[in-house]
Amino acid sequence: MTRFVFITGGVVSSLGKGLGAAALGALLQARGYKVRIRKLDPYLNVDPGTMSPLEHGECFVTDDGAETDLDLGHYERFLDVSARQSDNITTGRIYSNVIEKERRGDYLGKTVQVIPHVTNEIKDFILSDLTDEDFVLCEVGGTVGDIESTPFLEAIRQLRTDLGREKTAYLHVTLLPYISVAEELKTKPTQHSVKELLSIGIQPDILLCRADFPIPEKDKVKIALFCNVSKECVIPALNVDTIYNVPKAYHEEGLDKALLGYFGLNKEKEQKVDLSKWDNVVDGVKNTKHQVNIAIVGKYISLLDAYKSLIEALTHGGIPNNTKVNISCVDAQDIEESGTDILKPYDGILIPGGFGNRGTEGKISAISYARDNNVPLFGICLGLQMAVIESARRAGIKDAGSSEWDNFKGTPVIGLMTEWIKSGKKQQRKDTVDMGGTLRLGAYPCVLDKKSKSYEMYGSENISERHRHRYEVNIDYRKKLESAGLIFTGLSPDGLLPEVLEIKSHPWFVCVQYHPELKSRPFKPHPLFKGFIKSAVEFSKG
Ligand code: GLN
Repeated sequence: MTRFVFITGGVVSSLGKGLGAAALGALLQARGYKVRIRKLDPYLNVDPGTMSPLEHGECFVTDDGAETDLDLGHYERFLDVSARQSDNITTGRIYSNVIEKERRGDYLGKTVQVIPHVTNEIKDFILSDLTDEDFVLCEVGGTVGDIESTPFLEAIRQLRTDLGREKTAYLHVTLLPYISVAEELKTKPTQHSVKELLSIGIQPDILLCRADFPIPEKDKVKIALFCNVSKECVIPALNVDTIYNVPKAYHEEGLDKALLGYFGLNKEKEQKVDLSKWDNVVDGVKNTKHQVNIAIVGKYISLLDAYKSLIEALTHGGIPNNTKVNISCVDAQDIEESGTDILKPYDGILIPGGFGNRGTEGKISAISYARDNNVPLFGICLGLQMAVIESARRAGIKDAGSSEWDNFKGTPVIGLMTEWIKSGKKQQRKDTVDMGGTLRLGAYPCVLDKKSKSYEMYGSENISERHRHRYEVNIDYRKKLESAGLIFTGLSPDGLLPEVLEIKSHPWFVCVQYHPELKSRPFKPHPLFKGFIKSAVEFSKG
């Protein structure tokens, strides 16, 4: 039997609902249950692919090529279950599906309305593509009271009636603000937020209360009384030193016990909660022997969430190296203005993905600096493309650049000219297609050269990694680039699309067209991140 846990947020945004859902999923998994997590996003974009990372944080890509909310990254990292297209939906996609059906005549004769047509579409999505999951944790984005999320809340309200109490639970995440003059945590915003939920017909079953200080017993009793939940279902969620401590912290406060108790499952699998893998991760992150300073040279540096998976993957890479990874974001435009001296304090430089012209020359300068000074350099997606331009210029193509750049008239060593195979069909890119959903997306195979550093790190010739880019390296420049020392060590199986490039004479210069950070897990650090941090440790020792 599949049970659904609907997770909503109240009082303010940024309470860490996504992390809470991921931690709860991890706890259920630790008890032997099969878990899936889904995210319902209330914005009108069909997917987050067209949003600036500065507005909404990173766009997480799944194996099956969905561009999704970054919370799916938390889910994958905590559960090690590959998320799918069917795990994230937005209001935009829901409405676009409904309108498509209306045009097709699926509702012929009917007036198409939010209830029931939009809410049915949402419910169908929540119930779709499931097999033998024990639990589906379904997070509603936004904060209760927002106009945008109302149809989603209405849909989950209806599901209680459709599926019954024994298959549905509502978990509401709230905040208890601390008022310093009164030296007290306040419960009133939580009461109001629950009232707001009640006004749309949802009675939360469990409250996860974020607070900066331990919640006194009397406040738990008060919240339980005013919000119609049992005291055992008022779960304090205090800040912890590392996010990997969240599952354990919530377990100690009784979150999983409360949920299983609600479903009458407290006898089943109650004894077996093995959190040792989390203890090992926390231990690995906290008890380190070395430190390295890594610079991410990017352009979305004012919002750390823009590089969420990268930051996580770098941290994971530190674990097997007993290394604390200090990460700084350096603005590529600052390098354009002040030069590469600002990179001197770093033991490793990572050039991340990105779009557009801004900051690209700064990234190219950072790559030259790393190359000339033997600083470990990791180029990812746009980072690889900039490394190609850097090498092309070294090889004498002085006007080398990317046809992604506005009004570019030079030599496009990076361009749209290639084709690739997806599901047996040739895909071709023209610059006239829609911007949304038309990138090379999702998992593609790559064959590694057995004499390469990447082969050594992966320990395998055939790999599969996730992509999200429109432009490709023009393979016609291979000879020229190799003459400048940039060796093509990973290619698509047909040999046409460069996937991994390395410089042999450099201690660690590895660039990849894909996004390895999306597949790194705290328990299974990605081999390239592990290798990058290892070489940064060596560099730091001089
Ligand atoms: N802008 C580049 C492209 O579309 C790189 C994309 C990326 O770094 N994700 O090809």
